[in-house]
Amino acid sequence: MESEPFRDRAPVNSDTFTYPLGSPPAPGDAVEVAPGVLWLRMPLPMALNHINVWALADKDAWTLVDTGIQIPETATAWQRAFSTTLHGRPVGRIICTHMHPDHIGMAGWLTRRFDCRLWMTRLEYVTCRMLAADTGREAPADGIRFYRAAGWDEEAIEDYKARFGEFGKHIYALPDSFRRISDGDEIVIGGRTWHAVIGRGHSPEHLCLHCPDLALMISGDQVLPRITSNVSVHPTEPEADPLRDWLASIADIARRVSDDVLVLPAHNEPFRGLHTRLSQLSERHEESLGRLREALCEPKRAIDVFDTMFRRPVGPGLLSFATGEALAHLNCLIHRRQAVVKLDADGIAWYRSVDSSLE
Ligand SMILES: [Zn+2]
Repeated sequence: MESEPFRDRAPVNSDTFTYPLGSPPAPGDAVEVAPGVLWLRMPLPMALNHINVWALADKDAWTLVDTGIQIPETATAWQRAFSTTLHGRPVGRIICTHMHPDHIGMAGWLTRRFDCRLWMTRLEYVTCRMLAADTGREAPADGIRFYRAAGWDEEAIEDYKARFGEFGKHIYALPDSFRRISDGDEIVIGGRTWHAVIGRGHSPEHLCLHCPDLALMISGDQVLPRITSNVSVHPTEPEADPLRDWLASIADIARRVSDDVLVLPAHNEPFRGLHTRLSQLSERHEESLGRLREALCEPKRAIDVFDTMFRRPVGPGLLSFATGEALAHLNCLIHRRQAVVKLDADGIAWYRSVDSSLE
């Protein structure tokens, strides 16, 4: 999922990208992006109030890409779409780009309703099952240790304990089996070949779908025009370096997907300018890393670097997003040998930059 404070530090120049499709569709309505490719929008109950999903015509049924979060308003929008814009034709297949609840939330509802299969990457499916299984469990000691190390106070820790396991509440029970999509796979939909292009860093094995014939790329949360996708370290893997994965994925997409595609993102509007956007994203992360390195001339905790990283104050509701993102940058500096971390006697992690050129 995405969150407001992670919007770009500098506003994107409106001339940089073109948005050729005009206004977005209302919930349940559709805009035809290309022959047999429909753009629909589902509501989200948060500041980022929508997600784009896609319906691809395939023989006598629809292939849906992404599904919306599990709330009654999403079910209402889908019901409306089935009887109007989707012409009463059945859904034959669900593809999810990744396991965040706004993308996979209704997959179980749709696959049961239409007796069809869920297609996605293995790590996304397995990670989703793992997170959903946390619902009803107590917050683990590893998670409490993780957030204490980042500098959270007791009030924030109590909030974490109270909210632990919420992931599963935002998704309909997942199907008990799935069909795997791997990087480089070719999926024929409506007589056109879509290539699976996997990205990492925002989520473990995020699927993008590229159709050279139609010059389209469904990018999920991997490439968004006006939002910098959240790249976070989570308590299950405290030493992870998702920013390295993210930067490598951006370079990989630029190599594999031509710049002439119309990008169909999960948030904001379809746009042209893929390669420019990919360059912007990697430059901005490198700039953040540079600022962070300077700020770490004195030892700091993860919560002390928010001012350096985000342009807005981080309130309690965004603390875990901000902490995860700060740790992604801190861990990246550590893996580049540009920073070191030491735990103090209270288990708090203090980060300090080092001059790698002296090593
Ligand atoms: Zn996401």
